[in-house]
Amino acid sequence: MKLLEERILQEGIVLGQDILKVDGFINHQVDIELMEALGQDMAEHFKGQGITKVFTIESSGIAPALFTARYLGVPMVILKKQISKNLQTEVWQTEVASYTKDVSYELTLAKNYISDTDHILIIDDFLANGEAATGAVRLIRKAHATIAGVGILIEKAFQPGRTKLESQGITVYAQASIRAFEDGRAVF
Ligand code: 5GP
Repeated sequence: MKLLEERILQEGIVLGQDILKVDGFINHQVDIELMEALGQDMAEHFKGQGITKVFTIESSGIAPALFTARYLGVPMVILKKQISKNLQTEVWQTEVASYTKDVSYELTLAKNYISDTDHILIIDDFLANGEAATGAVRLIRKAHATIAGVGILIEKAFQPGRTKLESQGITVYAQASIRAFEDGRAVF
């Protein structure tokens, strides 16, 4: 999407070799109008597929996922990042390695927010190594629900996330796909 690419060029900050900071409009301060436009575009892209719920991973995926769910007319569910295993039987959990923080967490979903008749769209802000999205896929599959696809705001196409998801039969839609960082700028 041109709108998102332009914003990344104007306000995105490249850190080191492979991190893009988008704190001014996605990750810290949130541009609500932009989030609505991105959510509407996601809904347009995935409409007509019988999606019953939009899932996202806390916390940066929540804003675009909220608008996606609103435009699809379905509920949104936030997958929680918990530090330790929850021994209750009422949750599904799977371990995920965090990309930006050097830790792992238990991606957690209460069993009463998913059923085997759900067809789920996963929304997140970034796709890097695909660990977060693959964790969401594992949780959904544990519950025997099906996956419509993964919608990502910003894909770093030089990292293996897309390949990892597509090799599991998951469709990926990215609104901005970064081919490389050159001289501190994103190249699409
Ligand atoms: P993955 O699990 O695909 O390796 O990484 C995706 C997660 O890591 C995203 O949910 C996002 O929070 C974070 N992430 C990965 N790369 C970046 C990046 O370049 N910038 C920011 N701000 N977050 C990133």
